[in-house]
Amino acid sequence: MKKYFFVIMVLILGACATPNTSPPGITSIMEAEEAQRQFAYTLDRRRSEALRLQKIGNQVLAANADFCPNTRQLFGVWLHTSHDYNRNIRSAAEIHYNINEEPSIYFVVPGSAADIAGLQQGDTLISIDSQPTTSGKQATKKITAQLKKLVEADEIRPISFEVMRDEDPLSIAITPQIICGYPLSLADSDSINAYANGKGIFVTRGMMRFAESDEELALIISHELAHNTEGHVEAKMRNTIVGGIGGLAIDILFAAGGVNTGGAFTDAGMDIGQVAYSEAFEAEADYVGTYFLHRTGMDTVNVAHFWRKMAAENPRSITAVTTHPTSTSRFLRIRAAIKEIEDKQSGGQKIVPNLVSK
Ligand SMILES: [Zn+2]
Repeated sequence: MKKYFFVIMVLILGACATPNTSPPGITSIMEAEEAQRQFAYTLDRRRSEALRLQKIGNQVLAANADFCPNTRQLFGVWLHTSHDYNRNIRSAAEIHYNINEEPSIYFVVPGSAADIAGLQQGDTLISIDSQPTTSGKQATKKITAQLKKLVEADEIRPISFEVMRDEDPLSIAITPQIICGYPLSLADSDSINAYANGKGIFVTRGMMRFAESDEELALIISHELAHNTEGHVEAKMRNTIVGGIGGLAIDILFAAGGVNTGGAFTDAGMDIGQVAYSEAFEAEADYVGTYFLHRTGMDTVNVAHFWRKMAAENPRSITAVTTHPTSTSRFLRIRAAIKEIEDKQSGGQKIVPNLVSK
């Protein structure tokens, strides 16, 4: 018996290596304080990601409104209340943003109608067009519906937003901007991806990090917009050969933090499918998307480089055709489309994609 005990003791001691060094200690107070700083940093970082997506995305959606089958009226205001945050981060959000049950402005999209009219982040919303806005749970959703009703009833006209700013009431009239009717959502996923489902456009946080330049992000959004405007989703649904759309549940923002009150908010994509298009549709989305990108006026000189970066992420894509064309052909086709646009520009031709002659 003693012998076994000895063997077991040796095994236990052998398994439990202990550190040899003695790092400086930290206190629980230090940890609590640092946790608060990290919550604040997380909140701000998520907000700037959401804001960047809306800013760049709206440039694409506004520049191409004339080419979109659906349009909507955009104010460029995102609201939040403390209820839009998960329980684990809610109290930090309340302190950091000074928010409570009342709807307040999460951010104003730079360059949007609301920005130009002077609405500011942190303003508390009181009423819209003299109709009081609600507070508490679901407030952001209800206000979105309220605004949607207002803009649907009329032609485009200024809508007044009554807000409190530093204890002062203010009334700010905003004339919405017409943009393509495909709301942009940030998907809380690390995969480098973006999707279009015919109703909206979704970009993952992984893609937001990967598309470092605004031009690259605009290229991705333009590609997804082309899937929507060219009716690829509908075409795919009709085409049974391609198969069904798989479900991929994604979280829209990490805590539904802020709802776009841009007029026609849709619930599209609360449970969206990861749509696999045919290679030909992908090539078309790259082609038409390059025209969409051109119309934003952004610099397209280096934008095709995105596909060399993608090749480095996924070397198989350099030569292997999967559901998507190779990164090689995508790079070359985007370059060729840019050249075509430049030739049309210098030749004084209309800058629209060439159609198949039938
Ligand atoms: Zn695509």
